[in-house]
Amino acid sequence: MIPAPYEYHRAASLEDASRLLLELGEEAQVLAGGQSLIPLMKLRLARPAALVDLNHIPGAAYIEQRDGQVRIGAMARHAAVADSPEAAAIPILHDCAAGIADVQVRNMGTIGGSVAEADPHGDWAPVLLALGAGVVTTGPEGERTIPISQFISDAFTTVLRPAELVREIRVPAQVERMSGAYTAFKRCAPVYPTASAAVWVNMMDEDFCMEARVALGCVGLTPVVATEAAAALSGQAITPHAIDRAAEAAMAAADPQTDLRGSADYKRLLVGTLVRRALLASLARARGERVAMGHEYAAL
Ligand SMILES: Cc1cc2nc3c(=O)[nH]c(=O)nc-3n(C[C@H](O)[C@H](O)[C@H](O)COP(=O)(O)OP(=O)(O)OC[C@H]3O[C@@H](n4cnc5c(N)ncnc54)[C@H](O)[C@@H]3O)c2cc1C
Repeated sequence: MIPAPYEYHRAASLEDASRLLLELGEEAQVLAGGQSLIPLMKLRLARPAALVDLNHIPGAAYIEQRDGQVRIGAMARHAAVADSPEAAAIPILHDCAAGIADVQVRNMGTIGGSVAEADPHGDWAPVLLALGAGVVTTGPEGERTIPISQFISDAFTTVLRPAELVREIRVPAQVERMSGAYTAFKRCAPVYPTASAAVWVNMMDEDFCMEARVALGCVGLTPVVATEAAAALSGQAITPHAIDRAAEAAMAAADPQTDLRGSADYKRLLVGTLVRRALLASLARARGERVAMGHEYAAL
């Protein structure tokens, strides 16, 4: 399919993109990696009158650690995040970025586009929720830093205002005994997951967890922050019983829909398994072990 006709504008900076969006009005959209927008345009499910291209903005794709935070520019591609030293130091970032779709999508798709898209099946949001990330935006009213937990307001909906753009994702740098892991279950690589789970722990020692966060993907209209699951781990010795309680609480927090990926009951069971796996990997990493983690695929 060929997209409906549109005007093309090349932004020189994010401020320029915001100005262009303001000038062009509501029918204009920004183009980042195009991995969600272009297929929608080809199917004519999206018909923007104008595209403002962010791909030629210099210095919008950085990944760096500064002032106790890992800062990821909106235009950083999934593949660049996966290969970065920052993702080696915070392996949950690698778990997520290295498993998104296939190599073509990872080479083009951006973290800013994914967060702005707010697809309930997207991989980034649960990971960023588990990490307690912030989203830095830029727009006509200046810059804002919004906790990711407040950024996504509904399915495919964020609190971005007209002509406001995602500039940067900020993740607190991790110190010793803090770690997380992410896993998602998929039918095959180039599709979105059936369910996903991100877990982050801050351990006092090998057994006692001071704080935990658990976030789930694909089992609600927005990513689910599994508060009760985190409470089952926070301020607790991590025993098999605590792990069982966390997995059960995560299953209870999930609100999945039956669809072509599976029944609601199946997805809820899957959540229990994914949370257990992500938690065990997080605990091992917090002990300093190297654990390979990532997306898991159905044996077809
Ligand atoms: C076959 C296929 C499989 C995929 N599978 C997965 C998967 O398993 N997991 C997953 O997470 N993703 C998956 N994706 C999506 C992929 O991760 C995209 O990269 C992502 O959804 C959108 O990022 P993008 O840079 O391509 O954004 P675009 O497609 O360019 O833009 C998406 C939307 O965000 C807006 N936007 C883009 N950048 C900004 C910004 N900086 N500020 C404000 N608004 C902005 C655009 O206007 C548009 O509305 C898949 C895509 C394809 C084609």
